[in-house]
Amino acid sequence: MTRLKEIICTVGVDLGGTNTRVAIVDAEGRMPASSNFNTRDYPRQQDFVERLAKEVDALFRILKEEGYTLRVKGIGIGAPCVDSRKRSIEGATNLPWKESFPLGRMLEEATGLPVAIANDANAAAIGEMTYGAARGMTDFIMLTLGTGVGSGIVCDGHLLSGKRGLAGELGHVTFPFASDRLCACGRKGCLQTVCASGGMVHTALELLATTTDPSPLRQPGGKLSARDIGKAVIAGDPVAKCVMRITEEALGRACAEFVALTDPEAIILFGGVANPEEMDAEHIRQVMDNYSLAIYRGRVKVLFSTLKGSQAALLGAASLPLHNP
Ligand SMILES: [Zn+2]
Repeated sequence: MTRLKEIICTVGVDLGGTNTRVAIVDAEGRMPASSNFNTRDYPRQQDFVERLAKEVDALFRILKEEGYTLRVKGIGIGAPCVDSRKRSIEGATNLPWKESFPLGRMLEEATGLPVAIANDANAAAIGEMTYGAARGMTDFIMLTLGTGVGSGIVCDGHLLSGKRGLAGELGHVTFPFASDRLCACGRKGCLQTVCASGGMVHTALELLATTTDPSPLRQPGGKLSARDIGKAVIAGDPVAKCVMRITEEALGRACAEFVALTDPEAIILFGGVANPEEMDAEHIRQVMDNYSLAIYRGRVKVLFSTLKGSQAALLGAASLPLHNP
């Protein structure tokens, strides 16, 4: 007779503009079952909730048929534009629902399971604390470097949320070194105008205009991306290396200020731009130390996320039910 295998698990939902991915995640961060469906096929909120509930149920059934018994702690959702107190999604530009979407409450009613929902950057921070580089830490700042600079701040073991759940927009903190750069938010000098992918391309184009040296970054007709810059760094291109040095310098100077806010044990770098083969965390740490108040010097680590690519968002979401009060 087959002995039943028990799994203590949560359900992670990574709700994106194109795809909604769902996974059952166990206590070690393994994903014994996962699936996905097209977000855009469900422009009606109720239809989306029903499809999601059906998907979760189907994953439970697969595992039960494989002989598992499940102890499900809850469902965690990572999504853009979340009001974590109302547990709703509020007018995200890349999602089909323009009006307020109380997804947390609706999915709870549909599944009978507790549902936690958070902004993707905040979910990533909790995921890092549960399964990644911040395991065991109670104080750290996670910077997500991608099309923007997102952040999640964990202080005294709690994710800083703020009155409306909007705490930690560190990508829009302004610095004199970026004062000539206009941000998508309409202001000048935001950190992300230098350290997000568009900012790095901006720096590269400025550098390329000052020299006629050959560089793989000169692509007549092609649109330069942060990915191209990363690849050129690995290939040893001096222009790309200079772009990366400038990006690291900006991150180091910004982190010196952020450290003074919450006295973290570490800064964790995450996202498409934060690649250990291309970016030098030790350089960022040195710059941070040079600009830090003496009491913090030599005490704060700069680490890369250990959650890999596409799994990180799902693991982040899946960790939410474990940390909700
Ligand atoms: Zn801004």
